[in-house]
Amino acid sequence: MSSGTGAPDATGYAALDALPRTASGALVWAALGRAGLVTRGYHDGVVPTGADPVGLAGLLTAVDARFSIASTLSVSVQLATALPVLATGRTPVARHALERALTGQVTIALAATDVTAGTDLTALRTRVRIEDDALEVAGEKNWIANTTTAGYFLVLARHRPGRHFTHFTWVLVPADAPGVTVRPADSALFAASGVGHVTFDGVRLDRDHVLGRIGFGLPVFVRHIGTERLAGAQWGVALCRRVLEDTLRHVRGRPHGEGSLWDLEGVRQRFATCLVRVRELQALVAQYAEPVTLRHDTTAAATLKAAAGSTVNHVLTECGQLWGAAGFATGGIQEVRAQAALFGIGGGANEVVLGAVADAAESILAGLALPGTLP
Ligand SMILES: Cc1cc2nc3c(=O)[nH]c(=O)nc-3n(C[C@H](O)[C@H](O)[C@H](O)COP(=O)(O)OP(=O)(O)OC[C@H]3O[C@@H](n4cnc5c(N)ncnc54)[C@H](O)[C@@H]3O)c2cc1C
Repeated sequence: MSSGTGAPDATGYAALDALPRTASGALVWAALGRAGLVTRGYHDGVVPTGADPVGLAGLLTAVDARFSIASTLSVSVQLATALPVLATGRTPVARHALERALTGQVTIALAATDVTAGTDLTALRTRVRIEDDALEVAGEKNWIANTTTAGYFLVLARHRPGRHFTHFTWVLVPADAPGVTVRPADSALFAASGVGHVTFDGVRLDRDHVLGRIGFGLPVFVRHIGTERLAGAQWGVALCRRVLEDTLRHVRGRPHGEGSLWDLEGVRQRFATCLVRVRELQALVAQYAEPVTLRHDTTAAATLKAAAGSTVNHVLTECGQLWGAAGFATGGIQEVRAQAALFGIGGGANEVVLGAVADAAESILAGLALPGTLP
C-alpha cells in the first residue's frame, strides 16, 4: 500500500510487458486483474476505503507508458469510478461482480451518459421501475467506454420524473440479461476502449440489482467523479511527460542549419512553456490529491479537470507542431492529439468544470488571500 502525494511508482508492472502495444483496454484490464495489480489503486488494497493517489498514479503511468490512450481510458474509468461505485453495493450480486472485476475476469462499464446531452446529466431518460421484488430498466446509453466487452453495466437511471438530485439510482445490469443490446460506437480512435452504445429494452432483474440506496445515484456519482478527475490529471501529467520526452528527442535529432531544430530559440521557448504547464499540473495534482480522495472536495476536482483539459490540449498541440510532417505517421502524435482531446470533453466538458470553479469563486479567492493554505 502507498499513501500521500509522492511520485507515482510505476515499477512492478512486468505482467503488462507480455501484451502488445496495441492491446485493447479489456486485455490490459484482464492482465492487471490476474496479476493482482488493480488493488494497488486503493488504500489497503480495498476498494471501499477509497483511491490511493500514489497507487492510482502508478497504475495510470504504467498503463499509459505501454498502451494507447483508448486502452488507458478503459482502465482509468474502471479504476477511478466504476469499481468505487460498484463497491457501494452491499448485495451478494454486487460483491460477486466486484470480485470478478478486481481479478480481471470481467470489465465494468459505467453508463451515466444518456441519449440526452451528456453535459445535462439530470435530463437523462433511462428509467428504472422498482417493484417489491424486481426492477425493470428501459432506455439507452451512448458513448460508454467498455461497452463492447463489459460483463456488467452500472446504469444511472431515474426512478422518478424530474431533475431533482434524489430522483436517480444506480442499477447493476449484467450484460447478458435479456433485453440488453450492445453496439460498438463508430470510432476508430477509441475502438480499443470498447466504447459503444447500449439499449435496455424492458430489462427485468431481481431487486438486489439496485446498487446502494434508492435516490443516492447522483450523490454517489458526484463523490466518485472527483476521483476520475484526479485520475485524469495524473494521467495527463504522465501523458504530457512522455510526449515531451519523445518530442525533445525528435527536435534534437532533426538536422537544421548547422545543428538541429532544438537550437532554434522559438522551438526552445515553445517547449519550455510546455514544461512549465506540466509542472503546474503536477503541482496541482500534489496539492489536491488528498482533498479529492479524502474529503471529496468537488471544487478541487473541478480545478484539476479544467487544468488537465487545458494543459494536455496545449502540450499536444505544441508538440504536434514541432513534429512537422512526421507527426502524421500512423500512430504518430497527431493521432494521439486527436484522442487526447477527450481530456477536455469526457467525464465533464471544460465548460462544465469551469462553471463549477466559477461557482466557488469567493471561497477560492478567500483561500488565495491566506498564504500557505489551500483554497
Ligand atoms: C471515447 C469516449 C468514452 C466515453 N466513456 C464514457 C463512460 O464510460 N461513461 C459515461 O457515462 N460517459 C462516457 N462518455 C461520454 C462523455 O462523458 C460525454 O461525451 C461528456 O460528458 C460530454 O457529453 P456530450 O458528448 O453529450 O456533449 P454535449 O453535452 O453534447 O456538449 C457538447 C459541447 O457543448 C458545449 N457545452 C455543453 N454544455 C455546456 C455548458 N453547460 N456550458 C458551456 N458549453 C457547454 C461544450 O463545448 C461541450 O463539449 C465517453 C465519451 C467518449 C467520446
